[in-house]
Parts: sequence; structure tokens; C-alpha cells
Amino acid sequence: MHTTREGNAYIGRLARGCELCMQGAKLVLFVTGLCREGCYYCPLSEKRRGKDVAWVNERLVKSDAEVIAEALRMRAEGAGITGGDPALKLKRTLHYIQLLKAKFGEEFHIHMYTATCLDEGELQKLKSAGLDELRFHITQKNRTQVWESIRRAKRIGLEVGVEIPAFPDREEEIVEIATRVASLGGFLNLNELEFSDTNAQALRSRGFSLRGDSYAVAGSREAALKAMERLEKLADVRVHFCTSRYKDAGQLRQRLLRTALASAKPYEEVTEEGLLLKGVVYADEDLERLRMRLVREFDIPPHLIAVDKEKQRLETTQQIARELAKYLKELRFYIVEEYPTADRLETEVVPL
Ligand code: SF4
Repeated sequence: MHTTREGNAYIGRLARGCELCMQGAKLVLFVTGLCREGCYYCPLSEKRRGKDVAWVNERLVKSDAEVIAEALRMRAEGAGITGGDPALKLKRTLHYIQLLKAKFGEEFHIHMYTATCLDEGELQKLKSAGLDELRFHITQKNRTQVWESIRRAKRIGLEVGVEIPAFPDREEEIVEIATRVASLGGFLNLNELEFSDTNAQALRSRGFSLRGDSYAVAGSREAALKAMERLEKLADVRVHFCTSRYKDAGQLRQRLLRTALASAKPYEEVTEEGLLLKGVVYADEDLERLRMRLVREFDIPPHLIAVDKEKQRLETTQQIARELAKYLKELRFYIVEEYPTADRLETEVVPL
């Protein structure tokens, strides 16, 4: 068994979708919050659950241009299409697959999650649109019929997998599912079961508890690893266990880092967490005129100071802001740390 960052583990070849996700190179395209499965452990937030809206990474989608802009911003090499259940909005899903493939080419790897037992025609449409990899979530409702869809998807040439949460004490079931999906030429992804705001009560009422100081369910990790130890001896079995810690920290951090490195302005410093650090200046005067004055009077290289129209301020390097703050008491100087995401959420604002 191979172990990777944050306690993740796998046996057999990793799915391409997972490889790219681990590099932070996957755009996350949430196509709809609609889903018919009603899993009690569903972790979707109130903001998304049951709402027929699309999100790209942390940004609410209002146009195709925003989807493309977000992919460019992080230099994405692929996309994970998720929900809810994207198959409930198949036309929209097909549109996005075609949009991304047309813009970024065949190599742009697209995987998608669904809990719907798709028929031959629907699978063909997905394949023709350019879908590379399809992951079925096995639920209480679809557990008997889903296998036929997996078989069909494999037959038409899609890379196929199954994705389930690892329930404590259910290693027997995990072994069964892994063996069955392997016999159809697919892989199994195990997610560490985790508490969220929306499923905490349902999980607690079923006797699940928190593992240490994380959001993970106690016993989930052990069930996954015990099952994988047994599966390791079998040929052609591919299983990937993805921890809650990895999803929260590793995956997001990788994506932020990638976005920050790709989009940082010359005066922004990229932190190890993938955040942007810079100096900012607030003033009650015309910002463009102020910028020109500062460039002239303090000999600042023009590319190291810019007007941020959106936030109505000047932005520059931390060092320049610190220096200027010593002389220009009438202006307001700060060191700001912010996300490289579209909402540019500020995590720290320190006055100088
Ligand atoms: S299939 Fe996924 S999105 Fe739908 S209810 Fe279950 S966990 Fe939530």
C-alpha cells in the first residue's frame, strides 16, 4: 500500500482524476445542488444543497466566461464535475464538458460524479461530449441497479469508478464493492466519512463520533485501511482512500497555491498556504494621480504599484508600503493577506 500526503493511501494505479486533483490542477465545477438520493450523511452545505445553482471553485456561476476565467486563473489541467447530482441536469453538464474541451483541448481531463443509473444513450452523450472518467456514488437507493450502469459505462470506453464513504466497521462491504468494481475494470475511491454542519445531527443520532481534533468520523479510517490490507493481496484491485484532512487542507491548499502562483501580480508574495501577501494604501484622493506621484517622488518601479479599482485602493509590495508609511502620515497603509480566489476574501489586515 502506498501512502501519500495527509494520510491518503492507495493500492493499484491511481485514477487520472485523483492524480490531477492531488496536484491542485482540477477545476471544481459544481453543476447543481439537486439530488434525489437523500443520503443522511450528505455533507453539502445549506448554501448548495437542493439549490439548482452552479459554482466554479468558490464562485457562483453566472456565465460561461466565468467558468473559463476560473480555469485560466488556476491553470487547470482538468475539471471535476460534481453536485448534487450533475446527471439530473444532463444538458447543462454536457454543455460544460463541451465548453471546457473546446477551450482547453482533448487533453483537459474531465471526471464526473453521479448517483444516477444512466442508460446507454445518456452515457453515449457524455462520452461524445468528451467526458473521460465517471464515478458512481453507491447509495441506499441505487445499490442494486448501479452495477449495470457501471458495466455499460466501461463498455463504451469511459474510465469508471465507484466512490463511497468508508463507514466504521464495514470493511467487509468495502472489500465486496472493491472486488466487484475491479471485476468490471473500475476503481474504488473511499472517502473518510466526516461531520459537516448539515449532517452532524444525523451522524450523531446513529452513534458516530468525532475522531480526535478533526471533522472525521472515528473508525472510518480504520475500516478503510483494514479493507485495503485485505485487498492488497488481490490482483488488479485499485483503491484510493482520501482522508478528510487531505480534502480540507491538502487539496484546497494545492489548488490555492496553484492559482496564486499562476495569478500573482509582481508586487504580491505567495505564501506557503497559497495566499497572497501585499501592501495596500487607502487615500481620499484620485488613486491614479496618487500612484503617479508616488512613482515619481519615491522612485517606485511602475509595475510594483497599481490601482485596485474593485477595492478602491493602491496595491504594492509589503516593503514599499512599510517604507511609504514612515513618510506619508495622511494616507492609510496596511499589510493584507487574501485568497487568490474570485471573491478575494481577506484573511488578515494589519495596519502599519
Ligand atoms: S448522492 Fe451525494 S449529493 Fe446526493 S444526497 Fe447522497 S451524498 Fe448528497
